[in-house]
Amino acid sequence: MKSFTEYLVFNTKTRREYINITDTVEKLVKKSGIQEGLCLVNAMHITASVYINDAESGLLQDFDDFLERLAPHAPVLNYRHNRTGEDNGDAHIKRTIMGREVVVAITGGKLDFGPWEQIYYGEFDGGRPKRVLVKIIGE
Ligand code: ZN
Repeated sequence: MKSFTEYLVFNTKTRREYINITDTVEKLVKKSGIQEGLCLVNAMHITASVYINDAESGLLQDFDDFLERLAPHAPVLNYRHNRTGEDNGDAHIKRTIMGREVVVAITGGKLDFGPWEQIYYGEFDGGRPKRVLVKIIGE
């Protein structure tokens, strides 16, 4: 069995951002040379997510509106977590709702997606470098 590991780094300018990383991950699958296997992509920070959904601008705004309704960033003192001096209580909750990782099958050297599936990095507390792990295993 072969194994391939790479770390992506994101440093968004805004607090919240949704970045389509499908092409980047697809290139890593090609680089790995693995034809049949599994590709894990996970956020390595507890205020960011990796998830799969549609690359449609209205839906991205819908996700953001939904998350802000459920766990608004402000007022920051509404979160007990922020009593530690942080201001990202909302970001921890958003991350848990949107998930930590995705696993995609590799078939014939390509990510084996369902219709419209795209891999996204969801940032909920941006403005600093954050890592995403891509681990590919197979033959
Ligand atoms: Zn925190």
